[in-house]
Amino acid sequence: MSNCIFCKIVNGEIPSAKVFENEDVLAFLDISQITKGHTLVIPKVHNENVYDLPEETASKLFEVVPEISRAIKKEFKPVGLNLLNNNGAFAGQAVFHYHLHLIPRYDENDGFG
Ligand code: 5GP
Ligand code: ZN
Repeated sequence: MSNCIFCKIVNGEIPSAKVFENEDVLAFLDISQITKGHTLVIPKVHNENVYDLPEETASKLFEVVPEISRAIKKEFKPVGLNLLNNNGAFAGQAVFHYHLHLIPRYDENDGFG
């Protein structure tokens, strides 16, 4: 999708702080860090949200989520980690390229929830 911000991150038109990359999946730091280490995990192919995510794409993405989570745990040393995915504007989705938020948690005043 030519006007999709995350497709532009995938093809390098927009820079990002990469946390993980393989052939199918990219993880990078969210530009607006809810907490330290807040990461977005995306499939490289463009799909709007969970409703149109092919099963194969979903499994390729979730296959690497444990590895990315362990890397975040090692690097940022949080005491917990929330996984969050917004689908549809009403649910808070602002970027319409499927993405999973990994939000490290530190304490009750860490800024999330
Ligand atoms: P949503 O609200 O759609 O679930 O989350 C979209 C996320 O994308 C937001 O947390 C926002 O900060 C992040 N975001 C938007 N534009 C950019 C960008 O250009 N670079 C990065 N790294 N994150 C972005
Ligand atoms: Zn896209």
